Amino acid sequence: MLKVHNSLSGRREEFVPIKKGRVGIYVCGPTVYDWAHLGHARTYTAFDTIVSWLKHKGFSVMYIQNITDVGHLREDTGEDKIGKKSAEEKIHPMTLVEKYMREYFRDMDALGVERPGISPRATGHIIEMIEAVKKLIEKEYAYEVGGNVFFDVSKFKGYGKLSKINPEEMAAGTRFEVHPDKRHPEDFALWKKAKEGDPFKWPSPWGEGFPGWHIECSVMAGKYLGEQIDIHGGGRDLKFPHHENEIAQAEALTGKKPFVKYWLHTEFLTINGEKMAKSLGNYVTLRQVLERYEPDTLRFFFASTHYRSPIDYTEKNLEQAKRSLGSLKNSVMLLKRLKTGKGSDEEELEKEMKKAAEDFEKAMDDDFNTPGAIAALFEFSGRLNTFTSKNDSMSEELKSKILKMFDELGGILGLKLTEERKAGGEKLERAVELLIKAREELRKKGDWKASDDIRSELRKIGIALNDEKEGTSWKLE
Ligand code: AMP
Ligand code: ZN
Repeated sequence: MLKVHNSLSGRREEFVPIKKGRVGIYVCGPTVYDWAHLGHARTYTAFDTIVSWLKHKGFSVMYIQNITDVGHLREDTGEDKIGKKSAEEKIHPMTLVEKYMREYFRDMDALGVERPGISPRATGHIIEMIEAVKKLIEKEYAYEVGGNVFFDVSKFKGYGKLSKINPEEMAAGTRFEVHPDKRHPEDFALWKKAKEGDPFKWPSPWGEGFPGWHIECSVMAGKYLGEQIDIHGGGRDLKFPHHENEIAQAEALTGKKPFVKYWLHTEFLTINGEKMAKSLGNYVTLRQVLERYEPDTLRFFFASTHYRSPIDYTEKNLEQAKRSLGSLKNSVMLLKRLKTGKGSDEEELEKEMKKAAEDFEKAMDDDFNTPGAIAALFEFSGRLNTFTSKNDSMSEELKSKILKMFDELGGILGLKLTEERKAGGEKLERAVELLIKAREELRKKGDWKASDDIRSELRKIGIALNDEKEGTSWKLE
């Protein structure tokens, strides 16, 4: 039985979709005005694994992840993220979002993230958003002043049920200048009047402007998944105000509760203990990291932590992930090298394999516990290593069963456990390991010069050795 932690109730609940056998899931997509960073990758790989697991359990999944290409304003300064960047780069906003949307897909493809079933763009749904805003005005949940339309939070009972923040507290906590036309500080924009000369605008009953960020998700989720959806996800920062506002808009529009049955939120990826964010300037782009690490090293790094716990990004943690994944892949490689025949204790090993698959399933059914799932794979790889050290052959049937298991279960976590490494990759690794061993010998003999020469020669061809207490690690530069 699959259990998920629902941010709405704050509890782990049995997962029962609205329609038997089918799951509709909506995850807030990126605002495409810059490169994707590791924080984005953390969230989107987590949902990739969640969707893969739902499919593995036999659900027919409709996965929607939007592309925010208009309307995302900074909460602190109220600046339009896309407008600002396109003015800086002196390009049309549509050129900017087109570029970064394509780069985003390239990055996610490289990470082995399966593309969502639909990636609707906000700019492609302006008509639907205008219709929704009109309806909210008719129902008196929204009001227009001078070309801007705001949602009146006081009209929506239950505002704050997801983030557990009450409107009075919110109003008191409003740190930023409040728009003078708002009835209450906590009201939020559904439609914004365009500024003079702004090229990104659409005609509407309230004059030329553009939609607010929150309305896009309520409208696109409703359009593709219906008035009530099974799962809605995003990073923890989106709980308030974005998701709170989505609930208010959607439930005000349809009169149906709840808009979302299960809310899932990922914790942050941090750097030096702080959330990695574009606005804080402390980000490392995915492209930078993928130049130095294999995509599945990153996937392993993410999956080693539960999606609701923070992950701290350090070079050392990535190196650790690389080593651990390497040892798992090594077990698979040794398995592949076994000759066809009959090994001793094959029955026992097959039992262990089945147990690993069950443990993997139990962990994933427990709110997608990926570290538990990885532990199950490691447990089995230990048994497998014992087997391969004692035997030089195995029956073809068992070998293919084990490879299939590694392939399927590893694939759910984005790991390519059975794939041969890139041409030369494995050989290169072995050669560098040999050189590291040779250096150790040289240093034992006190021949520091020869040891340093090896290091600097390797450096010249882009291989960096790092001598640490625990031994020497290396990476491609
Ligand atoms: P944005 O492009 O800023 O709208 O963010 C897109 C998604 O990435 C949202 O779900 C965010 O919550 C998520 N996200 C952004 N930064 C991080 C981070 N440091 N850790 C985890 N998720 C993040
Ligand atoms: Zn959203």
